[in-house]
Amino acid sequence: MPKTLQIVGALAALAVPTCLLASRAYRSYLFRTYTATRDLLSLGKPRAGGKLSATAVICGGSLAGLMTARVCSDHFERVIVVEPEAWALSDAAREGPLTTGTRTVETERGVSYTTATHKRTRVYQYLGYHVYQAFLTLFLRALFPTFDKTVEERRLLIAPCDYNLHIVGRRMLYPYKEYETRGETLPPALFTTRRSLEALLRTLVKAACPHIEYIHGTATDLKLSTDGRRVTAVSVRTDSATVQDLQCDMVVDCTGNTQAGLKLLARAIPTASDELQKLRVSYDPKMYYSGIEYPLPQNFEEELAQIEIPSDNKAGRMDTGRHKHYFTWGTNPSKDHRTLFITRWEGGVYVGAGGWNSETPLNLQEMREYARAIKGDRPVPEYVFKILDLLEPVANEGEVFEAKINSCSRIFYERAHAILPNNFIAHGDSVMRLNPRFGEGITKSSVGATTLDGTLRSFSPFNANFGRTFLRRLADRSEGLWDAAKLTDYGAETTIPAKGETRNDGAFARWYGSVLNRLVAKDAEVASTFYHVGMFLAPSALLSTPTVLGKVLLEALFPTPA
Ligand SMILES: Cc1cc2nc3c(=O)[nH]c(=O)nc-3n(C[C@H](O)[C@H](O)[C@H](O)COP(=O)(O)OP(=O)(O)OC[C@H]3O[C@@H](n4cnc5c(N)ncnc54)[C@H](O)[C@@H]3O)c2cc1C
Repeated sequence: MPKTLQIVGALAALAVPTCLLASRAYRSYLFRTYTATRDLLSLGKPRAGGKLSATAVICGGSLAGLMTARVCSDHFERVIVVEPEAWALSDAAREGPLTTGTRTVETERGVSYTTATHKRTRVYQYLGYHVYQAFLTLFLRALFPTFDKTVEERRLLIAPCDYNLHIVGRRMLYPYKEYETRGETLPPALFTTRRSLEALLRTLVKAACPHIEYIHGTATDLKLSTDGRRVTAVSVRTDSATVQDLQCDMVVDCTGNTQAGLKLLARAIPTASDELQKLRVSYDPKMYYSGIEYPLPQNFEEELAQIEIPSDNKAGRMDTGRHKHYFTWGTNPSKDHRTLFITRWEGGVYVGAGGWNSETPLNLQEMREYARAIKGDRPVPEYVFKILDLLEPVANEGEVFEAKINSCSRIFYERAHAILPNNFIAHGDSVMRLNPRFGEGITKSSVGATTLDGTLRSFSPFNANFGRTFLRRLADRSEGLWDAAKLTDYGAETTIPAKGETRNDGAFARWYGSVLNRLVAKDAEVASTFYHVGMFLAPSALLSTPTVLGKVLLEALFPTPA
């Protein structure tokens, strides 16, 4: 054989494994950078070399704050949580009762409804049902060995994470086959209200880490070192209106929607106040939503089992004894503003509806009319109305939660490492308040806490690059959520965009997304990637690989009929 041919042959033989290795390395990079799945592997394990003789102060004792406190207890000898809401620190906030009664609300349009009363006044969405993704369950299991037992004791529902999502009417394919061939089923998620999850987390943290200190007070100021590079103390105004300085080696802003960290920083570094304010971007999606919590009607499970709900599992129909989420309608704002879902919670059935500048149905009849009014490529399946009919016996017992979300915001802390103290970090809604239409806020908080754990395993909070590294990693792992939610919202004509942006921004992403939404109803491979990205288990970059791009182009050229 001529020598040139031999060389070409050898190069060709090398090219295949090289490409494979490069592709594997690229995939690994994507998972490491854009998801927290790698950090999950060490979550909950003792810190190498023992705990730091140091103090972490966490401002805010809600979901992000509690997750952070649990993670910090593996790294710091002293962990302090500062929370202004006295009730949140009480036994009742862990063990219940979580609501105090009900009251009647008279609306301007003359429809009245019953809603629950409660003492968690600082969290607007306390009564709202929340959905969660599979990553959250993995996070909780890694941190709390008693998680499953406590969930069972509280009769909270945990089930395969199948939201039976219909996007503009087309049912997404769920990757059952992939799991069934391994003898498994879809990864599990919790199906419970936000208030029950918060109580569960409080109990788990208290049991796992009795040494965590809770201070009833409000973080009001940060004290900085003379060179301004470190926070040395957090000033806290306590119940008796006195101010106490808590010495700290790391401070975490978990103050949610208050986003107190930005205000505290602006006061502590007045020369950078303008620059800090510029880090915050907000827009108004005018997202209006209502949900009704029904008790479980008698014989509901038996009667539901008679209703055929299609599924991608082996049986081809949903096993309603095992599955807890019955239906979700997702939309594309260019088609319609309405979304709808029906799900279980430990106390009964929850029906939620809403969208951009949406009507808010306040009783069962209005829910039916809302569902009938939904527009899409295909109509809302008839079984949805049959499920609603099963609620008729408890129609007058529903408790309503009505919400208006007029501000979504993100603080780009990762752009400000030249100004920020090295040991200041933030996560949860204090950094990014998403449109809750996608129900991602809590899992995002668990990704933040996991990212903190991973960062603390390679950087001490005394390292000059600590805060910068955490904030960069967090941004990489969450900015896709912000972009996806915001750019989808810009497709609704009622959305008021962020300063300096227009509703045309993201037109290509919206187009790509709308074609992808059709694909996930017919292509099992793309649907599986979409599912795992949605579960926070895979990077969103996998939805724009050359293979997926090719499929999107084909679907765009030859659209699947409705
Ligand atoms: C209507 C609605 C529906 C939603 N649905 C979903 C859903 O389905 N799924 C989902 O995952 N997410 C959902 N979310 C989002 C989710 O509720 C939030 O992402 C989550 O509550 C964020 O938790 P957090 O701990 O960051 O903040 P929060 O829960 O807001 O808590 C902030 C805490 O900080 C405390 N605090 C405030 N100021 C200070 C201060 N100065 N010092 C000390 N402490 C302070 C407060 O008292 C509070 O306890 C929804 C949100 C809304 C509005």
